[in-house]
Amino acid sequence: MKKNIILMGPPGAGKGTLAKQLKEALHLVHISTGDMFRDAIKAKTELGNLAASYINRGDLVPDDVTIGLVKERLSQPDCEAGFLLDGFPRTLPQAEALEEIAKQISRPIEVVVNLDCDNEELVRRISGRRVCKNCGAPYHVVTMKPKAEGVCDLCGGPLYQRKDDNEEALKVRLEHYVAETKPLLDYYEKLGLLESFDSLVGKEQLFDEVKNFLNK
Ligand code: AMP
Repeated sequence: MKKNIILMGPPGAGKGTLAKQLKEALHLVHISTGDMFRDAIKAKTELGNLAASYINRGDLVPDDVTIGLVKERLSQPDCEAGFLLDGFPRTLPQAEALEEIAKQISRPIEVVVNLDCDNEELVRRISGRRVCKNCGAPYHVVTMKPKAEGVCDLCGGPLYQRKDDNEEALKVRLEHYVAETKPLLDYYEKLGLLESFDSLVGKEQLFDEVKNFLNK
């Protein structure tokens, strides 16, 4: 089984949903830099205040801050079992730093799973996305409704719309994706690590396809 994994794809491609499914099925540690920043914002830490100023307008948090956070997390003993990086790396300096960190801690990246999705679908998914304030479980007002409106099926927490899930911030996030993150697909292709999947097949089929691939 492949275990040290990067999940890539534009905002709304389904990285978070897939990561949660794979985490359960394969017992991997899920490391989402977006979730780490949102936790820091909730806890009103110094990191949270800094991150909020970038995240709310759709911009990327500076590389040195993000790299430091991931380095610390990946060095923890639970990552020995294997990890899923969701939302990191997003820039070339982050990818280069990750290669260095992975070497230092002897946990090399084994595969990069890329999710393809067209722009129209990304906008539809992001504009209808709701997230549980407690556990981060994702929902959609049309395609992934909770059993009771506004309440998380898993933990009973309240659902909310992320501040950066609006048209204006999404436009900026997609621009960052195209300019800074998409070029990483070439970077990982050259390293022979890239495997792409069509996220339009739906979340259950996508999960099956990726799980089967990782289990090979
Ligand atoms: P996500 O939950 O992955 O969509 O991330 C939400 C936001 O957190 C992004 O739009 C960025 O502002 C910030 N963020 C998450 N991961 C990174 C990263 N690797 N580098 C810079 N900013 C990030």
